[in-house]
Amino acid sequence: MVDLTRYIRDLIQKNGPLPVNEFMALALGHPAHGYYMKQDPFGAAGDFTTAPEISQIFGEMIGMWGAHTWLSMGSPERVVLLECGPGRGTLMADILRSTKNVPGFHSAVQVHLLEMSPVLKDKQKDMLESYDPHWHEGLDSVPGDGPTIVVANEFLDALPVRQIVQTPDGPQERMVDIDGGELCFRPAGRVLAEPAPARDHFIRQLCTRLRQATGAALLIDYGYEKAGPGDTLQALHKHEYCDVLEHIGDSDITAHVNFEAVKNIAGDMGMAVHGPAGQGAFLHEMGIGYRVDALKAQNPEYAVGLDSALHRLTAQDQMGTLFKVMGIGHGFDFTKTGFAV
Ligand code: SAH
Repeated sequence: MVDLTRYIRDLIQKNGPLPVNEFMALALGHPAHGYYMKQDPFGAAGDFTTAPEISQIFGEMIGMWGAHTWLSMGSPERVVLLECGPGRGTLMADILRSTKNVPGFHSAVQVHLLEMSPVLKDKQKDMLESYDPHWHEGLDSVPGDGPTIVVANEFLDALPVRQIVQTPDGPQERMVDIDGGELCFRPAGRVLAEPAPARDHFIRQLCTRLRQATGAALLIDYGYEKAGPGDTLQALHKHEYCDVLEHIGDSDITAHVNFEAVKNIAGDMGMAVHGPAGQGAFLHEMGIGYRVDALKAQNPEYAVGLDSALHRLTAQDQMGTLFKVMGIGHGFDFTKTGFAV
């Protein structure tokens, strides 16, 4: 979006170069021109497709995990079911649809959604109206005194990262700057680390929140298990990778999630941590293969589509390995459902 590029250029001219995380926060979240703030980015007409948008079978497996977690908590009479970054609301709709026959679950569930985008809030409203959801812009306002189950799919990768690069003068922070009137990254050099202060803060807040009573969260994202050097910042525009500085406000900018860091923070805060497991392994543990067989038996005309969805969600060369699933829990017997090795 030209407006946002110009806005960022003016800002740098006025105040000096921007750290990558401040740039990313503006590109995604500028109130008027930020990527998530002004449009629905999903699906064939959009920029990228997420697991819940591929097929209902993804949300059904997450629903099974949620219902199982609630049962392990002792079927509390009230449970906050919070989704962070719900997109179009498809995942939550599939979770709720697929668990409606779990006795007592729906009367216990209170649906809460953490979402910053007004456009996506409207979509979520359409999709989830009958469940009477409550919206939040941060974790602070989510009721914290009772059992809680949290799910987040491709939420953590949207939280801004900083980048530290190797230069002849030693490690330095990579900035967005102006060169000949155009935006550029400076200084040049190999990316050594991607500190993610906003993500770390979110995980700390989430753990604090889950520790207040019984609580568990399922975090699903494109990410890596062991921290290593490397630039994982990427931009997707109309299903193609593009330069991060090219379609600002019209491309989805993400950074892969450092699950080692998430695990360390959660572990230090006394949480039980499961995984990360590959998304394929997790979904198979949850029985996605059996679900596909059952759906195919009922609807033979959908067999090809179901097989292709299963492949995209679980195959190693698709989303099965690069996408990871991590469970964190506290205050109950947090069984390893989905994480058995
Ligand atoms: N979970 C959905 C959408 C993933 S895209 C799916 O799998 O399809 C990321 C989502 O997180 C969008 O809904 C976006 O608006 C939201 N989001 C990104 N950064 C956020 C922030 N800082 N606070 C609240 N919501 C945010």
